[in-house]
Amino acid sequence: MVDFIPFSPPSIDQQEIDAVVETLQSGWITTGPQVPLFESEFAAFLNAKGAVAVNSWTSGAFLVLKALGIKAGDEIITSTFTFCSTVNIIEHVGATPVLVDVEADMLNLSVEAVEKAITRNTKAIIAVHYGGHPADLRALRALAEAHHLYLIEDAAHALPAKFDDVLIGASENPVIFSFYATKNLTTAEGGMITGAGEWMERLKSLRLHGITREFSNRYTPEGSWYYEVVEPGYKCNMTDIQAAMGRVQLRRLDEFQQRRAALVARYQAAFTSVDDLKIPIQHNNVSSAWHLYPLRVIGGKYLDKRDVLLETLRTKGIGTSVHFIPIHLHPYYQQRYHYKPMDYPIAYSAFQQIFSLPLHPKLTDVHQSRIIDAVLECMDKI
Ligand SMILES: *Cc1c(COP(=O)(O)O)cnc(C)c1O
Repeated sequence: MVDFIPFSPPSIDQQEIDAVVETLQSGWITTGPQVPLFESEFAAFLNAKGAVAVNSWTSGAFLVLKALGIKAGDEIITSTFTFCSTVNIIEHVGATPVLVDVEADMLNLSVEAVEKAITRNTKAIIAVHYGGHPADLRALRALAEAHHLYLIEDAAHALPAKFDDVLIGASENPVIFSFYATKNLTTAEGGMITGAGEWMERLKSLRLHGITREFSNRYTPEGSWYYEVVEPGYKCNMTDIQAAMGRVQLRRLDEFQQRRAALVARYQAAFTSVDDLKIPIQHNNVSSAWHLYPLRVIGGKYLDKRDVLLETLRTKGIGTSVHFIPIHLHPYYQQRYHYKPMDYPIAYSAFQQIFSLPLHPKLTDVHQSRIIDAVLECMDKI
């Protein structure tokens, strides 16, 4: 049996291990000195106006909606072609998700579809930067401004990515990053919100019980026992163990991205002339974070050729994934909003064709050659 090539293992080396062990031995393991250091280093890396660390993208985005005052009766427009949490958080605050279709090439929000979906109740647009390729922020910003809507960016895939030469996260509007185990930078679980405004101040209190002052020096010689709760906040703070790991990962991010870019270039060269495959593209005015390498099977003789391909790759010891099962196909959303698969034809057909190949900094040239050969061999047969 050949060795298994996992889809997306984390890139952890001795530096992360040492940083975590040091924190464990420091006498302070939850939110303490490491978290503000990670926040300021992260903000400096992206030229962000400010950064607030949390325990996941999901809780961070939920807090953003709370801090912006989104409530029952409000509508939020987002893409059906995303991970469930982008939409779950809208339900969590009692608002109504209004799903729209994607554009056909990069599978990001269709700006025309967003425009058509705007009503008197629309409060925000959540733009997902699918696979790390930024959505059309210029058009979305203009639309948000014209209709007085918040533009929120799901940047779970977009670290680091650029639109019109500006890093995603450098703007004032809320941008949320994920440090989940498979993401370009990981703290096992974790997230960061960037942006500027009153809502950022409210976020800082909402993430930890609604307490106004920083809590982390409570048990130090300088600390005070006194604190005040100004609203019933939540428990979404990042631990120092995670932050210590994140600080090391941030220092390694440029090197990670160079490796991702080299792997992508090799995949592109290998698949560009295969008739039945559609390779991902990158628009001229963006720089993708290449979180995913999504391919689409567009020809072949079987109806379920994508599934046949993934099953064959699995038997050859190659891990793959599908990003994403569109939100409108999941039972909860399908039943609650009576969606039919073809309500969003572009997302639905992309879902049937798409799959993601392994793409991570630890992927070796030898393993990548095995993946490329296996895909090419399968394509000949299906
Ligand atoms: C991973 C992911 C999330 C959720 O991130 P967590 O940190 O696991 O909560 C949200 N949106 C997208 C597009 C993702 O890929």
